[in-house]
Amino acid sequence: MTELAAVSVTALKGVGAALAEKLAKVGLETLQDVLFHLPLRYQDRTRIVPIGALRPGQDAVVEGIVAGADVVMGRRRSLLVRLQDGSGTLSLRFYHFSQAQKEGLKRGTQVRCYGEVRPGSSGLEIYHPEYRALSGSEPIAVEQTLTPIYPTTEGLTQQRLRQLSEQALARLGPHSLPDWLPRELADDYQLSPLDQAIRYLHRPPPDADLEELAEGRHWAQHRLAFEELLTHQLSLQRLRESVRAQQAPALPLAKKLPRQYLANLGFTPTGAQQRVGAEIAYDLSQSEPMLRLVQGDVGAGKTVVAAFAALQALEAGYQVALMAPTEILAEQHFINFSKWLAPLGIEVAWLAGKLKGKARASALEQIAAGAPMVVGTHALFQDEVRFAKLALVIIDEQHRFGVQQRLALRQKGIGGRMCPHQLIMTATPIPRTLAMSAYADLDTSILDELPPGRTPVNTLVIADGRRLEVVERVRLACNEGRQAYWVCTLIEESEELTCQAAETTFEDLSAALGGLNVGLIHGRMKPAEKAAVMDQFKQGQLQLLVATTVIEVGVDVPNASLMIIENPERLGLAQLHQLRGRVGRGSAASHCLLLYHPPLSQLGRERLAIMRETCDGFVIAEKDLELRGPGEMLGTRQTGLLQFKVADLMRDADLLPAVRDAAQALLEHWPQHVSPLLERWLRHGQQYGQV
Ligand code: ADP
Ligand code: MG
Repeated sequence: MTELAAVSVTALKGVGAALAEKLAKVGLETLQDVLFHLPLRYQDRTRIVPIGALRPGQDAVVEGIVAGADVVMGRRRSLLVRLQDGSGTLSLRFYHFSQAQKEGLKRGTQVRCYGEVRPGSSGLEIYHPEYRALSGSEPIAVEQTLTPIYPTTEGLTQQRLRQLSEQALARLGPHSLPDWLPRELADDYQLSPLDQAIRYLHRPPPDADLEELAEGRHWAQHRLAFEELLTHQLSLQRLRESVRAQQAPALPLAKKLPRQYLANLGFTPTGAQQRVGAEIAYDLSQSEPMLRLVQGDVGAGKTVVAAFAALQALEAGYQVALMAPTEILAEQHFINFSKWLAPLGIEVAWLAGKLKGKARASALEQIAAGAPMVVGTHALFQDEVRFAKLALVIIDEQHRFGVQQRLALRQKGIGGRMCPHQLIMTATPIPRTLAMSAYADLDTSILDELPPGRTPVNTLVIADGRRLEVVERVRLACNEGRQAYWVCTLIEESEELTCQAAETTFEDLSAALGGLNVGLIHGRMKPAEKAAVMDQFKQGQLQLLVATTVIEVGVDVPNASLMIIENPERLGLAQLHQLRGRVGRGSAASHCLLLYHPPLSQLGRERLAIMRETCDGFVIAEKDLELRGPGEMLGTRQTGLLQFKVADLMRDADLLPAVRDAAQALLEHWPQHVSPLLERWLRHGQQYGQV
């Protein structure tokens, strides 16, 4: 039997060139594609529901006799057909109907219909049901399975997709769609054979648990999610191997520069910083490229660790590139590194997307000529940027970039003669299980110790009805010489609206807090304006800074000890944690006021309560995952994790440890299964993470 992966959809009945083109649009080119094109949801057309038992909101098959059909003149003219089955009366309403239709629904006709039952002006109604008149003589069977509803595109009907999957299923078997999970392995994890799972999901039996299916908790979905996650894991490991096979410059341990740096630093690295620093220093001394992730909570001191890594490359005479996801954060690094490296006689070059014209040309020239330390945004990795002898790439706050960029960057390194070492720093408090999967290609170091003298931030959850009190509190803190942030959150995904709201808040607070110097910073301001405002705030010339979440990462003003976050319910917990990390950086007791807009949902209340109870990023992440449970997808976009077909990293987090073991086993005992799996899930040899 031919493998379905090799059979074009045009082999199916009814598929010509035009349809094949439409199918290609939704990624359906082979019969295997058709089988992996899974339903979004299902309809139950397996039984006829008595009219008397119908409930509003239900999708149901109903059968009855037409008791009357009239054109009624409501707000809009419609055809109203009354259907009776002895248990009650149901109305079918058509706003669009033809004369023939009306005649086909004469009194006494037996009709079977399907649609959503709603309360209407004449009792329960179905608007525009699918229906057919029954002749009465030959009984017509109901559906034997649940009816799949597929993701589709314009001009491609469900009917058509069902016909296609029907034909593909007829050719489905263990040989036509090989199961690359060896039975031994599948048994260990209680996974059913692939063809059974696929068949089930396309045509679930009438007694299938619809709720389980809707939530993605069904065994058949688990089977596929497992395979998909496994493939993802394998692809990252492959990537890792391919990078490891490259040569990187082996950088000897540095002596002189770190000594000078330490002498000027003004504090001693924590134990965790020293430990992680040593792990990195060892990696850098090898000729295999380092691929290391440093995870550390907000304020753990990742930048210092990065600086030590940079010094090792600099002392060896190589270039270092440090990339941050936002211009604000990149600037902050530029300032820090300039301050740290100037006494060592090392200049820092700057490149961001907004740098244009001569300044840009000159930056590019410097970089090509071997400028030792280069700081910037992702502009650093555009094609025109050529490094002379890049040995180390440092990426800060990697979750903002996502895996895509990480891979692109890696590719860029590979383009040259040598592959640079890579150090990725993240404060993303993503649960360990997820980190394990999302970063399977990286070694991980954890900074699990905060520098001494930090005071935990005291967090309060307050309804926005008490806004005036909160404003007074800001005045008090500022009069005591402290500084404060007032954060305006995102409005309906619109940056523009959010910036406007921040402007309004800025005006209101400036008026309410006459005598205090209030500043404003948001994403629509020019970089120079932003930098100027940040600088004034740093210098203490501004006491209150009204901001959007642009200040989320990296901004460091130790004297700021109060933060107000408006509508915190709009943000994910990870983001709230990041924001809150802007305070509690000095020795003064710090406070964070979460000024929510009532009413809060139960989930909303619980989430804010977590923020009040703990400042530990990992605890927050784990609780967040627990609370979200299945269904709520918040996380993926926010953490920049991957998009999957079936799996969901949040929902399926509990599969990950097993997936990781299975990947190991597969690589060891069934290495020949790896490529077929990658081909199946990563179409056209596409690598994970590439768009
Ligand atoms: P993050 O891990 O959030 O990126 P940073 O590197 O920005 O943290 O460090 C936060 C603050 O803590 C900075 O002001 C930094 O100078 C300071 N810091 C870092 N390490 C130490 C240390 N060992 N002792 C005291 N302060 C430190
Ligand atoms: Mg940082």
